[in-house]
Amino acid sequence: MKSKETVAGLALENIQSLSAYKPGVQPDGSDWIKLNTNESPYPPSPLVFQAIQEATGEDLRLYPDPISGALRTAIGKLHGLDAENVIVGNGSDDVLNILVRAFSRSGRATTLINPSYSLYPVLCGIQDSNVIELQFDRSMEVPLDSVSKLDARILFLTSPNAPTGVAFGNETISQLAASFEGIVVVDEAYAEFAKESAVELLSEFPNIVITRTLSKSYALAGLRVGYALAERSIIDILDRVRDSYNVNRLTQAGALAAIKDQSYLQAIVGKLTRIRDFYLQEFEALDWFVYESQANFLFVEPVDRNGEKGPKVAKSLFEYLKENRILVRYFPGHALTESFLRISVGDEDQMLKLSETIEQWLKTG
Ligand code: PMP
Repeated sequence: MKSKETVAGLALENIQSLSAYKPGVQPDGSDWIKLNTNESPYPPSPLVFQAIQEATGEDLRLYPDPISGALRTAIGKLHGLDAENVIVGNGSDDVLNILVRAFSRSGRATTLINPSYSLYPVLCGIQDSNVIELQFDRSMEVPLDSVSKLDARILFLTSPNAPTGVAFGNETISQLAASFEGIVVVDEAYAEFAKESAVELLSEFPNIVITRTLSKSYALAGLRVGYALAERSIIDILDRVRDSYNVNRLTQAGALAAIKDQSYLQAIVGKLTRIRDFYLQEFEALDWFVYESQANFLFVEPVDRNGEKGPKVAKSLFEYLKENRILVRYFPGHALTESFLRISVGDEDQMLKLSETIEQWLKTG
């Protein structure tokens, strides 16, 4: 008989040393104010429920459309592109995974600019691809000079950036795409909340791939759907790598309804950006540093009642909020993030409760 340890030891070395991605907490019970995973505080479009209900029937015994054809066409139309420029996935995480699997492995590096979305290094770890890590400094400017010299197949740029919320203009992204030899993946998970998108650059730069998700602005994190937009020869490559039925029937139906209901999306985005900008000013009024966010979250550097800031202060507010059943996100792993908290933008009531709890912390915490 082999021991349990020996059996696990049969796994690839890079998997044995891999740490899995740590998602934000999904707590039990509904009495939490959940501002930790950038979900929407509002429900999805009512048309989504209707479409999922209509798709819930006998046909569930049949496989879904393997290419998510109707959804690709609708997404293409939304962005002024063809269905051939679109691939759909089980969340944008699936699409990011497909990208890494198609373009990167040991000896074909991937470049990250930290801090950014912490799933990327995990995907690279699974693929055993080497990771070149560039760093943002507090100014959050893209280190363009370092990029042109890089020998890498993929560069991930999260824009708007997570966790800071800072968006990079199309001029910067153009310079990046022009000077980088590999594929520039612009992760636009939060783009619906931003002023600009890199979609218009696709026709000029064949090495840009844009990823999007319906988890945030469309309020469909639970449905799992995301997509990539790119030059059709890249989509063709990605289609060879993905699972043949990577988007289930109910998701295809619900996502199609959501994409078609742009007026609902715009109303939600309008509400959330107004709340975001209001609370950005509130934090500034406390004399806290806040990045100019173009996403559905705020990245704030708390200052306590003694005028102190830093990792201990950020951690203390994080804990205080948690004791009061408010969940936000703390990222201790990077010099630029360890003094900050990332707070998803909630609805008016949630944000009011947050703000009252912060006032209490300032008095007593
Ligand atoms: N990219 C970024 C920058 C994100 O923050 C997230 C959400 N955690 C994703 C991608 C993944 O989104 P999805 O739910 O579509 O997998």
